Amino acid sequence: MSQLLWGIDLGGTKIEGIVLPSLNDPAPVHRSRVSTEKEHGYDHILHQIKKLIQHIEKETGKHPDQMGIGTPGVLDPILLTMKNSNTTALNGMPLQKDLETLLGIPVILANDANCFALAETHWGVVKKSYPDAAMVFGIIMGTGVGGGIIHDGKVWAGKQGIAGEWGHNFLDDSGGSCYCGKTGCVETILSGPSLQRYYKSLTNKEVTLKDIVCAAENNDEAAVATLERMNQFFGKAVSSVINLLDPDVIIIGGGVGNIDSLYKDGYEALKHWVFNNRVDTALVRPVLGDSAGVFGAAALVA
Ligand SMILES: [Zn+2]
Repeated sequence: MSQLLWGIDLGGTKIEGIVLPSLNDPAPVHRSRVSTEKEHGYDHILHQIKKLIQHIEKETGKHPDQMGIGTPGVLDPILLTMKNSNTTALNGMPLQKDLETLLGIPVILANDANCFALAETHWGVVKKSYPDAAMVFGIIMGTGVGGGIIHDGKVWAGKQGIAGEWGHNFLDDSGGSCYCGKTGCVETILSGPSLQRYYKSLTNKEVTLKDIVCAAENNDEAAVATLERMNQFFGKAVSSVINLLDPDVIIIGGGVGNIDSLYKDGYEALKHWVFNNRVDTALVRPVLGDSAGVFGAAALVA
């Protein structure tokens, strides 16, 4: 039996595969990718995954005995079908069962935010700076807002598979309607597109997130207001995570997570809302970049 860690990151545009020696030695034995071509539907996505694995087997001369797979959306642990995926061809499909049939090995699925948090815990910023952390919360604030909980080095997925999905907690009515069918979700206020929409509501200008950050540095009034609002709501939204989980570390990934003021003004706002007279929780940036997804998938089988 192979002891290597095999992981696949199933993305909307590409599927990436990796083979790692072990948890203690994450220098990849092999890494490669294929296009997802999701427009061709569910069966084609399965076919692409199999094609990638066959390629890796040929290149390495090794065969997996199990496989970790990071997915957009999550496998419902009760219905055993996919849900909440923006690669909509996956929703409602028994992805785990179909992959196990196709590959002939056990497959462990986790959503991409969980994989991100898991990789940063074992090999990234948590391992480097907070090796004793028992509870880690990984946030992704990008096009959407999601999160993953890592407890004692393992994904905590929850009864319904939605543990950590703070992006769809209610935050404020001013966010307006969310794609999930509710109103005022964290995502409607703290995602990149939501910040851009707010800036546009003040200026009638459609600009990128980077432009807003630059403009704020140059004291553009609307940009400053956009980031101030972001920081206030960030504090309010993250305080509910801290009051519930009290994690040792919160890792903030995604494009919005790059904004410097979150770590100062956002952190100050957090202190106002947390149910404690101080906040000892570390707010940190990830270090693995785009690699976190596929490394996290491999860590699922460790
Ligand atoms: Zn929502």
